[in-house]
Amino acid sequence: MLARSYTATTQGLNPIKIEVEVDSNRGMPNLIIIGLPTKAVLESKERITAALINCGIRIRCRRTVVNLAPADIQKSSPTFELAIAIGMLKMYKEININTDDTIFFGELSLDGELKPIRGALPLVIAAKQMGFDKVILPAANKKEVSIISGITIYPLNHLREYLAFAKKGKPLPKLVNEKFKSHHQLEKLINFEDIYGQENVKQALTIAAAGGHNVLLIGPPGAGKSMLAQAMNSILPPLTEQEAVELTAIYSVSKIGVDSLITQRPFRSPHHTTSHVGLIGGGKHLYPGEISLAHRGVLFLDELTQFDRRCLETLRQPLEDRQITIVRAHGSVTYPAAFTLIAAANPCPCGWQESSQKICRCSQFALEQYQRKLSGPILDRIDLFVRVKPVDLKKISDFTHENKFSSSQLKQQVVLARNLQSAFLAGLNCSTNSELSSQQVRQKIKFSPAAKQLLMKAAVNLNLTARGYFRLIKVAQTIANLNQHPEISKLHLAEALPYRQDSFL
Ligand SMILES: [Zn+2]
Repeated sequence: MLARSYTATTQGLNPIKIEVEVDSNRGMPNLIIIGLPTKAVLESKERITAALINCGIRIRCRRTVVNLAPADIQKSSPTFELAIAIGMLKMYKEININTDDTIFFGELSLDGELKPIRGALPLVIAAKQMGFDKVILPAANKKEVSIISGITIYPLNHLREYLAFAKKGKPLPKLVNEKFKSHHQLEKLINFEDIYGQENVKQALTIAAAGGHNVLLIGPPGAGKSMLAQAMNSILPPLTEQEAVELTAIYSVSKIGVDSLITQRPFRSPHHTTSHVGLIGGGKHLYPGEISLAHRGVLFLDELTQFDRRCLETLRQPLEDRQITIVRAHGSVTYPAAFTLIAAANPCPCGWQESSQKICRCSQFALEQYQRKLSGPILDRIDLFVRVKPVDLKKISDFTHENKFSSSQLKQQVVLARNLQSAFLAGLNCSTNSELSSQQVRQKIKFSPAAKQLLMKAAVNLNLTARGYFRLIKVAQTIANLNQHPEISKLHLAEALPYRQDSFL
């Protein structure tokens, strides 16, 4: 007699329901798994057999066939092992219950213990959408899925617990839902008040945080570029529940994995030697790359000119679309990649141009070559160009010097600006000003008469390109939002002018 159980897998973040069919017949005693399994799944045979025997189940001397349907999708994860074991138990009539409303996830150890799986969060969300009432999964995955309501989750440590339920009616442990709470712990982050001076950079990063603008920091080594970039997370608004779920789902299917719901915005800072796959995603398992791990947070590329040009080239599309599609021979996957980019670079190859500490010894040729490298592929995706100067040592030693900005104050400003923005952007399919298209800028953004005059003057005198023109307006709009103004005044526009690319390169 045929027995059936259900499980699922993910391709990228896309769930696929898998039906496990188990049949047995006379023939050489053997366990056969069919339905496009990879070698990893074939190894499951030994684990499942050993786990069943160690749980006191007598394996029948028959030919047992396990079919994983649909057959055209490659099955490469050990997540199915629990579902296969349940199918076999039903087929052997060791348990006699209807499991059609239940979906099973879990890898088995040789003694029947349930080991954690990858992708638990997207799988449980998918199970709910597929109409299942119950989920059985490894207890180690329970923290990750604890905020998902609308489906009953039973976290188990051992296959024996399910056997005790199915054979003797012993109740299964039910997961108690937790309410979502964003943990924005400022004390664990680098705060702006920990950094002396650099008021202009802090202001620029506040604009970036409020409007989702990408930033390039240019300054000599040791000027504090990377510390400033890291402090950006301390002023970003807390994650919403939906954002936290999106982010956790990405980490859940990534190489890194996750042990509980992610409640802080990510800060990813890949080294310039990171491979193309590491940055963008892909490889054999189609894992998400750094740009997706930085989703809803910050991607910091230090020493921008050192990155491989091809890597930077491929960043252009996700910076525009806020997601990345990775196409491989055996399918394609799409991962979200809505991050704010902070890039940093030295002003010249030796780093000391315009510095008062050391003399720049770069040749004219080297300088020109460097400029070319810097004005490479992604600069047209950057809204704010910011000079970072080394802090005046006198200021540091002067203990009376007080930082003008604290992270908690700036964060409050950012949150208020974002609130104003979301009301303004409602129905435009954008969440921040930086995402506005040229057409939307033309239609939606309002200026005071004096600001309009200044804009015309700037466009002519500074010879702004069309791209530079719209970028300037978007930055000015965010500055207006930070000042709780619905329209751009002359002052807001004047504040936005120094962040232009052509005032730098
Ligand atoms: Zn130099």
